[in-house]
Amino acid sequence: MSKMPDPSFQTVAIIVAAGRGTRAGGDLPKQWQLLHGQPVLARTLAAFAAMPRVLVIHPDDRARAEAIAGDALIVEGGATRDASVMNALLALEGRGVAHVLIHDGARPLVSPALIARVRAALDRAPAAAPALVVTDALWTGANGLVSGTRDRSGLYRAQTPQGFHYEAILAAHRAHPGGAADDVEVARAAGLDVTIVEGDENNLKLTFPGDFSRAGAILKGRAMDVRLGNGFDVHAFCDGDHVWLCGVKIPHHKGLLGHSDADVGMHALTDAIYGALAMGDIGRHFPPSDSQWKGAESHIFLRHAAELARSQGFAIANCDVTLICERPKIGPHAQAMRAALAKIMGVDLDRVSVKATTSEQLGFTGREEGIASIATATLVKA
Ligand code: MG
Repeated sequence: MSKMPDPSFQTVAIIVAAGRGTRAGGDLPKQWQLLHGQPVLARTLAAFAAMPRVLVIHPDDRARAEAIAGDALIVEGGATRDASVMNALLALEGRGVAHVLIHDGARPLVSPALIARVRAALDRAPAAAPALVVTDALWTGANGLVSGTRDRSGLYRAQTPQGFHYEAILAAHRAHPGGAADDVEVARAAGLDVTIVEGDENNLKLTFPGDFSRAGAILKGRAMDVRLGNGFDVHAFCDGDHVWLCGVKIPHHKGLLGHSDADVGMHALTDAIYGALAMGDIGRHFPPSDSQWKGAESHIFLRHAAELARSQGFAIANCDVTLICERPKIGPHAQAMRAALAKIMGVDLDRVSVKATTSEQLGFTGREEGIASIATATLVKA
């Protein structure tokens, strides 16, 4: 949502993750623990990647949130769940939002089909939420003994995302005294009819340690989504005494022409990541015509591409950069280049390759008029 919802988006997702729940075990609140190598919350955000997103966090988690938020708007929550949702709703005021989907950060396995059911119901109702019919028998218990039974007919297990017409839920929260279990309770207190849509057993809320293994098993059963992208770039030599290649400054009797560092290798790699996401190229995200990007250092582009990949739920599985030039010699610098790129992208060194070739003195690279680079990146969503 590039810090401001595009007015063409009618629906905004609000991901509520300001709680400190540690019943799932571990030192970190559950929404920050790793599920199959990725923070739970990164997966939850990715599930709503098709729409603008607001991420509601605890103030202590700001640095963590910024690392995974991508283009989501970060809002600090309040002391209660109600207050956290209210902060998000207020942050959207005056932005032309029609509908909001309010979702628990600890439900990372929500499916596109479930999200679509809630959205579709909002065309016909002011509020809609997913739920599952209770099929188990219900008991009361005390001191380890069953103390009674309850009729389960008409009972549902509530899930999220809970969807609402924006103005209606904002007014409902304003009028509510607080202490609601969820937003459906707030909506009903304001007299809104809430349509029940079919929930999903896999849309579990990670609460206890065992939930993580169950979620892991569900993820394993899902098809892996692999994306491959390529990038190509050329920069001409000019007067100078050094070149920047893959984040490393190399003394040379010429420089490279271009904005700021003209890092041809890093530009090719950045475009490979954008390409794998089918989300354009450097020029689209950082228009050269926009004066704020004139002279911007290339690591800004690469970091943006890597964060965009993460915000869409992808990990960078590997990348491979080839520099094409007669000189300078790349070999002595290749390890430093790999380390620089790995650090910027936040990936392990053994997933980053940098190599070089000459073009046998043929063509513009052979005549030492410039340097070319090609790059490949593999992204995996698992
Ligand atoms: Mg370039």
